[in-house]
Amino acid sequence: MDRLSMSVQYVKGVGPKRASKLRKLNIHTVEDLIYYFPRSYEDRRNFSRIRDCSHGQKVSLKVYVAGYPSVLRPRKNLSILKVPVKDETGIAYLIWFNQDYLADKFNIGEELNVNGKIKRIGNEVQISNPVFEKKNSYKDKVGSIVPIYSLTENLTNNEMVLIMKNVLKDYIDKIVEIFPKDMLSKLDLMPVKQAILNVHFPKNGESYKRARERLVFEELLVLQLGLFMIKNNVKFDNLGIKFDAVEEVEDFISRLPFQLTNAQKKVFKEIEKDMESDKQMNRLIQGDVGSGKTVIAALAMFKAWKSGYQSAMMAPTEILASQHYENISHMMEKYGMKCELLVGSLSNKKKEEVLDKLKNGEIDILVGTHAIIQDNVQFKNLGLAITDEQHRFGVRQRAIFSQKGLNPDIIVMTATPIPRTLALILYGDLDISIIDELPPGRKAIETYAVGFNMLGRVNEFVKKQIREGRQAYIVCPLIEESDTLNIRAALEIYDKFKDETFTDFKVGLLHGKMKADEKDNIMNKFKDGKIDILVSTTVIEVGVNVPNANIMVIYNAERFGLSQLHQLRGRVGRGEYQSYCILINEGNNKVARERMRIMQKTNDGFKISEKDLELRGPGEFFGTRQHGLPDLKIANLFTDMEILKLAQSEASKIILKDPHLKDEEYCLIREKIKIMFKDKIDDIIFN
Ligand code: ADP
Ligand code: MG
Repeated sequence: MDRLSMSVQYVKGVGPKRASKLRKLNIHTVEDLIYYFPRSYEDRRNFSRIRDCSHGQKVSLKVYVAGYPSVLRPRKNLSILKVPVKDETGIAYLIWFNQDYLADKFNIGEELNVNGKIKRIGNEVQISNPVFEKKNSYKDKVGSIVPIYSLTENLTNNEMVLIMKNVLKDYIDKIVEIFPKDMLSKLDLMPVKQAILNVHFPKNGESYKRARERLVFEELLVLQLGLFMIKNNVKFDNLGIKFDAVEEVEDFISRLPFQLTNAQKKVFKEIEKDMESDKQMNRLIQGDVGSGKTVIAALAMFKAWKSGYQSAMMAPTEILASQHYENISHMMEKYGMKCELLVGSLSNKKKEEVLDKLKNGEIDILVGTHAIIQDNVQFKNLGLAITDEQHRFGVRQRAIFSQKGLNPDIIVMTATPIPRTLALILYGDLDISIIDELPPGRKAIETYAVGFNMLGRVNEFVKKQIREGRQAYIVCPLIEESDTLNIRAALEIYDKFKDETFTDFKVGLLHGKMKADEKDNIMNKFKDGKIDILVSTTVIEVGVNVPNANIMVIYNAERFGLSQLHQLRGRVGRGEYQSYCILINEGNNKVARERMRIMQKTNDGFKISEKDLELRGPGEFFGTRQHGLPDLKIANLFTDMEILKLAQSEASKIILKDPHLKDEEYCLIREKIKIMFKDKIDDIIFN
């Protein structure tokens, strides 16, 4: 048997009892153990001096035993062992509870290395239950970088360190290098054995860094290669609709009230090509707020219509759906296309009418909320399914949507840009188009972060803008995702504004729990200029378009994620006026300040989302959404972005050269892919 796949029980120092504890950590084999990397490290290389130690600090000390140990018994069942030690700066006491047997271990004058947490009690310096070792004895617990492992009940870090030393000593030679030699040298990668040893027991910061980089690179390369292989395979399978080449699209474009940006042209070309091929299109369009994704969707729908198919577009909120509907029908109806809106708040009669027409093919374009993926909705021949702001919908909803037709082409649009590197991983099943250019003439939104004490001046500024004919959004604090509290905060601000702060102006209120027609009513009033100041929860986050509104004030801005702030801010800056976003920041910590700084400095959604990931981590960024990616042992998709880029570019080169990794030199990498994706991909890909 391959010794690496042997049960961990047979590693020296493990045995059946510890093996069962290790199983709880998902460590079953020798190899699992070797690849169980430390969660963090404690640097015990630098020794402190007793005089300099402060209460609560974790330190390493080099000391001498300064006197006889004493044992106190203040109560039955409690003994306290106290050993005085000293260095050239002072005296400290090592303390153990109920471990008097240790008393015999210390000889006066003997040198010790000690590690532990300092307590200062009056004038006395103490360390309870320190880790210690004697001069000339085993030199690793103190005075080195010590790995800290995630543990389970009744397994200590010391035990784990010991087991790890054993397994590495006896089995590291069984680990094989999966990279070809020339790859190692070209990319200057540390050989695998050395890398594993150094990640568990780093000699110094530099060797640790190189070691980790090597292992992260390996893991990400294997991941990306696996995903590429899956993608090639999937794409090969799904036949879709072959749409006609439609010359009239040019005509449609030339009649738009603006010229398409180069980025829009490029993205639409990619879509045209996909639509005309017989494969099913699965394309993600990423474009910052205001980059003009809607018109791209309209062009694709026009093409579908000319080829004899129906299209549908799904948006996350009624406000957004209605707005898309107005926009799109305005563009389309002059060509004779019939558009309808389907949202939950329609009357039953109207709904039935829409559903009937849809089934009969009397509707060419259906715009709506998730109402359009309900069971009772039937298309005559849905050819193109478009989802706007896809991050609001799950993978499942996307799937249901596409089942409303026979392999319709699929476009998903998002204004939450994520770096291309990540998109390649997270949307492995989608092709990606990026609109990386805003229409010309947009003025950058001026953003200011201020403290709550500036509120008076902020309000004056708002008044001044309104007197000049503009309108303002006021976004209320986000309170722990609780709708009720959010609405209460909005109500309070609304009342105060209406009755005290902005008595001369018309103040409106918008929140998530209002009925759809109430919301529409308020939004329409705001659009028509009948409301000057719109107090709102985050319901205005996506899509809403009121070009005359040029100022947004966001309360408790520190509670929002950067990407969300950017989305909100995108509601202004849509017209000809200089726009402003004022972030009222009540957070007083470093991260909050850093976030405000980023918002003031940049208007680029991609940069912002990258920072967001860095500062908040993936969990919050993606919510609970499951991506179904294999577990990673060492790499972090978000903080290891640079290595990820390198791994991706290497993976693309390899796949291009050898799509099925049949080459001798890649056979070991191929095995690793199989292991990483275990049940996720079957043998087809590897034949
Ligand atoms: P988003 O990408 O955020 O969904 P929209 O599609 O809503 O952006 O477009 C924002 C605004 O920009 C709309 O008013 C739209 O008509 C306008 N627009 C789109 N493309 C262009 C362009 N090439 N030149 C000028 N304005 C454009
Ligand atoms: Mg949009």
